[in-house]
Amino acid sequence: MTKQTDLIHAIPVDELTGAISVPIYQTSTFVQDAPGVNKGYDYARSNNPTRHALESVLAKLEGGDRAFAFASGLAAIDAVIKLLDAGDQVIAVQDIYGGAYRLFTHIYSRLGIDVVYVDTTDAENVRNAITDRTRLIWLETPTNPTLRISDIAAIAEIAAAHNVLLCVDNTFASPVLQQPLLLGADIVVHSATKYLGGHSDLIAGAVVTKDAELGDRIKFIQNASGAILAPHDSWLVLRGIETLYLRVQQHSESALEIAKWLLLHPAVDQVYYPGLSSHPNHEVAAGQHKGGYGGVISFTLKTDTEEAACAVVTATRLFKLAESLGGVKSLLCHPATMTHKSVPAERRRMSGVADSLVRLSVGLESAEDLIADLEQALLTASTVAKSDVEELRFAVV
Ligand SMILES: *Cc1c(COP(=O)(O)O)cnc(C)c1O
Repeated sequence: MTKQTDLIHAIPVDELTGAISVPIYQTSTFVQDAPGVNKGYDYARSNNPTRHALESVLAKLEGGDRAFAFASGLAAIDAVIKLLDAGDQVIAVQDIYGGAYRLFTHIYSRLGIDVVYVDTTDAENVRNAITDRTRLIWLETPTNPTLRISDIAAIAEIAAAHNVLLCVDNTFASPVLQQPLLLGADIVVHSATKYLGGHSDLIAGAVVTKDAELGDRIKFIQNASGAILAPHDSWLVLRGIETLYLRVQQHSESALEIAKWLLLHPAVDQVYYPGLSSHPNHEVAAGQHKGGYGGVISFTLKTDTEEAACAVVTATRLFKLAESLGGVKSLLCHPATMTHKSVPAERRRMSGVADSLVRLSVGLESAEDLIADLEQALLTASTVAKSDVEELRFAVV
């Protein structure tokens, strides 16, 4: 059976009524026959049948032992860090998601957990950073917004040799394209707000564990800290997952086409997309990704100014100007003034986020229409002469 078929049928039919869609158990508690005698559910923070159905599917998607659904991606990240003790150290990917950086820097450093940031695109940097206090390696691959790729299997080997846990934030790739647990990671986290949900209509997170022991520890933290996903949102994520394969395949196909088109555009300087052979980590990506490279592309303009980028991001019609990614509708943003605004300009530029960098989340509109939208926006922003663009259209056809 293909993975897609398997996934669709992993979503259970309701045993009680035969409902083909998982019922939303909108309840806080469950009536017990006698103290401690119940039907497997007692209080809805601890467990809820709708959430449980989602968690089983998430575990299957990532090839994990168990999964846990949280109220946001950050709540999922928070639950993983709570595995650690004061004095422990984390080695994290340099261009980590900004919200994770804020959580680590402003909350966990106060509680005695240190995070050191290294360029994980070279696995040797990870090996060299390990000390006897290192307990966890935190990867994101591809990263945001320059889509750097780290070699999960190589870093998993280093982690295992030093008895250190490896956690991978798999939000950008989704389990359709990349399954870190099968490459040796111990834990996967997701912002299910993005591809898993897929419709820009909820905030949710997930943790998936490789083995039962880690599963028990995350389950304890989920129940003890309480940042669970609500039943209705659990149902929405389940519904999103039903079309995950189709969506991610289409996002990837369209993104590759758009990335190739951008490469040839006279107003565009760099194009960041792991599916392009010009991407510095393309070979690792090609080995690690299955069936595509996802829907996020970043590019910079030859006129490398905030003004030029802002002119482009306000001139598109189909690409809507908003933070987030992974939805049916295409989005775009300008990291320098939006997601990365709080990063000092010098640091931001050094990490590859140029003043003119634009990030696209390629949605499910046709690639042809999205290209036409970008073409008119780049022209409206008058970063190139009209004749150059017409010449380009001729070349692409
Ligand atoms: C959005 C995002 C998060 C945070 O998820 P929320 O659902 O917004 O809390 C974490 N990691 C990555 C890579 C993200 O893109």
